Amino acid sequence: MSDDMQPIKGRPGPTPIPAIDRLMRRVTADAVTGCWLTTYKPMSAGYVLVGVADQGKVLGHRLTYEHYRGPIPEGLELDHLCRNRACVSPLHLEAVTRRVNMARGDHPSAITKRTNICRRGHSMADALVESRGRRCRTCRRESNRRWRDRT
Ligand SMILES: [Zn+2]
Ligand SMILES: [Zn+2]
Repeated sequence: MSDDMQPIKGRPGPTPIPAIDRLMRRVTADAVTGCWLTTYKPMSAGYVLVGVADQGKVLGHRLTYEHYRGPIPEGLELDHLCRNRACVSPLHLEAVTRRVNMARGDHPSAITKRTNICRRGHSMADALVESRGRRCRTCRRESNRRWRDRT
């Protein structure tokens, strides 16, 4: 066999599939909530990441929002109205200011405000009022104990 039979090196591969198409191939809409769920494994914060040529990984819900609804206005971030961070439905997203997003979001302090339960699950009914805000009494007691028992 001669060298001529070798495959040509550097030949362009198949045309890359746009990220939005790759994402949409893996989407199924939840029949109950309408959330667009994907077969991607969400990252630790719960969001889905999709690889985009030249940009590395981008958030899946940003990709669908920008594709179906247009660019995200300067200074705004996307809030999941359905509270499911793995959802990539553009209909479940709203562009809001960071302030609004934090206040209504699943940020620990926002949850505490809504439920009156601290992030470790203690009641905040008898919370301490400190200069930086309310503080869980049980958590403070436990952190004091850890401090005392340090080795
Ligand atoms: Zn959703
Ligand atoms: Zn606590």
